[in-house]
Amino acid sequence: MPWYSVNAQEKNQEIENKVKKLLAEMTLEEKVGQMTQVDFSVIGVPEEQPAADPIDYAKLQDAIVNHHIGSILNTPYTPHNRAQSVQTWRKLTASIQHAASLTRLKIPVIYGIDAIHGATYTQNAVLFPQAINMAATFNPELSFKEGEITAREIRTSGLHWNFAPVLDIGRQPLWPRLWETYGEDVHLATVLGASYIKGHQGDDFSASDKAPTCLKHYVGYSFPINGKDRTPAWISERMLREYFLPTFEAGVKAGSPTVMINSGEVDGIPGHANYHYLTTILRGEMGFKGFTVSDWGDIKNLYRRDRLAASEKEAVKMAVMAGVDMSMVPLDFSFYDALIELVKTGEVPLSRIDEAVSRILTVKYQAGLFEPKPLLQIDGHFATAEATATNRQAARESIVLAKNAKHILPLKKSADILVTGPTADSLSVMNGGWTITWQGDNESLYPKDKLTVLAALQKKSAGKVTYVGGHSFDAVIDIKKAVRQAKKHDVIVLCLGEKPYTEGAGNIDSLALDQAQLDLADALLATGKPVILLTLGGRPRIITAIAEQASAVVLGFLPGMEGGEAIADILFGDYNPDGKLPISYPANTNDVVLYDHKPIESYEANVYKPLYPFGHGLSYTTFETHGLKVEKEKIKRDENITVSVNVKNTGPLKGKETVLLYLNDVAASVTRPGKQLKAFKKIELEPGREENLRFTLTPHDLSFIGVDLKRIVEPGDFKVMVGHEAVMFSVVN
Ligand code: BGC
Repeated sequence: MPWYSVNAQEKNQEIENKVKKLLAEMTLEEKVGQMTQVDFSVIGVPEEQPAADPIDYAKLQDAIVNHHIGSILNTPYTPHNRAQSVQTWRKLTASIQHAASLTRLKIPVIYGIDAIHGATYTQNAVLFPQAINMAATFNPELSFKEGEITAREIRTSGLHWNFAPVLDIGRQPLWPRLWETYGEDVHLATVLGASYIKGHQGDDFSASDKAPTCLKHYVGYSFPINGKDRTPAWISERMLREYFLPTFEAGVKAGSPTVMINSGEVDGIPGHANYHYLTTILRGEMGFKGFTVSDWGDIKNLYRRDRLAASEKEAVKMAVMAGVDMSMVPLDFSFYDALIELVKTGEVPLSRIDEAVSRILTVKYQAGLFEPKPLLQIDGHFATAEATATNRQAARESIVLAKNAKHILPLKKSADILVTGPTADSLSVMNGGWTITWQGDNESLYPKDKLTVLAALQKKSAGKVTYVGGHSFDAVIDIKKAVRQAKKHDVIVLCLGEKPYTEGAGNIDSLALDQAQLDLADALLATGKPVILLTLGGRPRIITAIAEQASAVVLGFLPGMEGGEAIADILFGDYNPDGKLPISYPANTNDVVLYDHKPIESYEANVYKPLYPFGHGLSYTTFETHGLKVEKEKIKRDENITVSVNVKNTGPLKGKETVLLYLNDVAASVTRPGKQLKAFKKIELEPGREENLRFTLTPHDLSFIGVDLKRIVEPGDFKVMVGHEAVMFSVVN
């Protein structure tokens, strides 16, 4: 056994002993307090009264000393949340830990925050492209670095625990949190999610620049049948195991010690009452040892919304017995009061409380909270030039060039450009929700030194850049003026898309773009000047008619704080684009067929005909793959197989290419997708250079969820596909 695992074992044993000892000293109230998480507003001065110190110390004392609260989340000032300076955060969290240190057992508070694309609630933090963009990079190394930088910046802010990554699979494009996911593919999301966790936690998340992650939202949240947030998903056990559980399995394996629960319901059972998911599968099958936390108010929702429980108290019992260890209550102490009573009356056994509290204390010990290290110096750890450069690279790699007719792009720096449309001059449209505020839509709070698309184009251009603006998405801007100006310029950069949003506030009834944006596009296309369409926003809004006539289409999604510069880099050719779509971009609102569809979905009248398929993305150079080979023609069920292929840069410029390897199980006892991504590699090649890539497919890659709901590999033929080539191999008994 290597020395480090001996050390890890000893450390685990030590923590286990400490937890047992501490638990033995705790009263019921102290235990239930550990299971209770409240929002900052519970300890803060009212939102209407911003103060130099937003903590109300009497309330803090009441929460920590009288109610023994174990965890706090969010920022002053709620409910709208607002990013605070690093210094403020350091003071706030120090005051909270100070209060905890005055309690009988001095158990530290674990502070949770939604740092989903960087330290979202710390002013001037490095804010990365959102997850849908990180997926478009197909670059696990960048995801690792995002994790690393995010952990460092939240720890520099005195914060400990990140409610990220989102490991829901994005297979419902109407859903207002699609962009928080790594897209529609299970393998891609698994690889990027696991890399993020490793970067964020390192080998030991008690290190002063590391922090525990939280896998969310377990499980099935992302697939509401009607597309609205927090509405029912109908997912059978087989589909759950095939599409929705694997990312969480990978997250548990990567060492994430906490899991947040699905706010909605699957097959009629709300996430927070689902013993089968929370206990049988998560603990029993996946071996998860950490603790689960509810989502916002979702235990109450079992009563208030779902009518699953007849009272709030019954809801508490249901959730705790199903496997919820910590309740994000979050606005009062009702959970605390109810749970104490339930234990006293024998309705919830003390053993269940002890189990939950042990898990929470274990994570607190693992995170080093009992022996806090000095905070990192701000200088050199927060918003460093190096981290910003990494962010810019992530933004560049996350942008998808979807169309480039007659090589209109890259533009000459001397070109005269008309820039117009609602997303041209705004930072919020590039960042989306969970940026500085919850909805991310308060443009006035955005940093002044970051560049919008317009500002970045102006900075780089050696020609004339004219802006005909308006920030409205659904009201007409001055179309006549835009048309007049268009005639005086060489090219139009038309910036369309969506305003920032998350959760229910982002619900929409159709993927269609706002009429005002369509009208603007029509008028500009009618001028005959070349139009470069740039879209920004979290979902694939329908752009088919515009895309057909536009000379170029650039899909920006939510590229983060460096998005403006990254887009200008690409439009002017200072960076050769290499992003690829992590979703199928629909051509029509109601034609949402995903790339890994079943044979029946492309049979007879049915066709997979997105505007742009999964994996699509152009470059200013060209690549070719050839010579696809499998190492053996036959393997046994438990064997790996190696696949190799050559990739060549056949164009004039250096560039990066992601080689995507798909697999098809030719005949199986459960219908199989026509193709499923099983491996990918991104490499950079000089013009004319060629490289041989090797991939290893494991039995897991060949497996699926069988008739009896167990994962199996069936003997028979398999087809491997890369680019235009395909090769076969077979699995024998
Ligand atoms: C969201 C979670 C988030 C939590 C805390 C909820 O409304 O669904 O993703 O972590 O709020 O802010």
